[in-house]
Amino acid sequence: MTNGPEVELTPQQPCARCGSPILAAVTVPVPDTRTAASRRVTATVCPVCDRHHPAPEVQGVIAYFALHERVTDDEVEGAAQVLSAWARYVAAHPPIYTSDDLDDEISAWERGEM
Ligand SMILES: [Zn+2]
Repeated sequence: MTNGPEVELTPQQPCARCGSPILAAVTVPVPDTRTAASRRVTATVCPVCDRHHPAPEVQGVIAYFALHERVTDDEVEGAAQVLSAWARYVAAHPPIYTSDDLDDEISAWERGEM
């Protein structure tokens, strides 16, 4: 297990919010205020749900994928830039999950919806 952000460019899971194919997923370590340990959270960029996302970092990812359907070898550097900016944004603004949300996700997973 690494401590850095892990970016997934061809995520297999659909958007947890609307079910559309997502563009990318990033998993970052965030401090857990309850246990004082760090946990890892995964954020996704969905072209539908995040179309009006206020963060320029998220818009950067959407704009990037609007131009590049697939990240080829010579584009990896450009992709790395927008994706690492996004990873830093997610680490600074981790998605908030209440335990209820998590339970919902787990039961959705168990029903085979994720
Ligand atoms: Zn969505």
